Amino acid sequence: MNDKVPDKLLKIDRSLAQKFIKTPGQNPYLCYQCNKCSCGCPAAHKMTLLPHQIMRAVQLGQMEMILDNDSIFYCSFCHTCLERCPQGIAVSEIISKLKGMVAKIKGMPSAYKDEFKMIAETGRTSPLTSAVRRRREQLGLPSLSETVGKGEAKKIIKKTEIISYIEK
Ligand code: SF4
Ligand code: SF4
Repeated sequence: MNDKVPDKLLKIDRSLAQKFIKTPGQNPYLCYQCNKCSCGCPAAHKMTLLPHQIMRAVQLGQMEMILDNDSIFYCSFCHTCLERCPQGIAVSEIISKLKGMVAKIKGMPSAYKDEFKMIAETGRTSPLTSAVRRRREQLGLPSLSETVGKGEAKKIIKKTEIISYIEK
């Protein structure tokens, strides 16, 4: 038997899991680490902390692990994990909530900020580049204007909490 005590013992903190447990479909303790969520995740190749590992971190209350990297921000909210989970856990929803928590603590990744800025300014989620314009022309599609709507996207963003993260 190895009597050596590790330098740092893992301290389990249940308070993180408690934030999800009462929402139907979000009980982190139902996860038994089968890995099906991570195996089907289209963003897994970009993540250093995979969806099933994120679930384990939540079970153990290891928020630092989640804060230490930007893996959760690669999640595209496609819900594949939810569809694949044998326990019916809405991993996608849990990750979405975690994004909000992390954004409050350390701010949003700059790519997110830029995307929200673009939505606010143009009403578009992706830029209308010259390549896009050219392709549309080749396909005989009508040309698009630089902006969508009359600034409604900006008004909506200004009414949400997101604006405080963009301006941080
Ligand atoms: S919702 Fe997010 S974590 Fe789940 S499969 Fe899609 S990209 Fe992966
Ligand atoms: S698929 Fe469900 S049970 Fe399996 S590791 Fe992911 S969250 Fe846990």
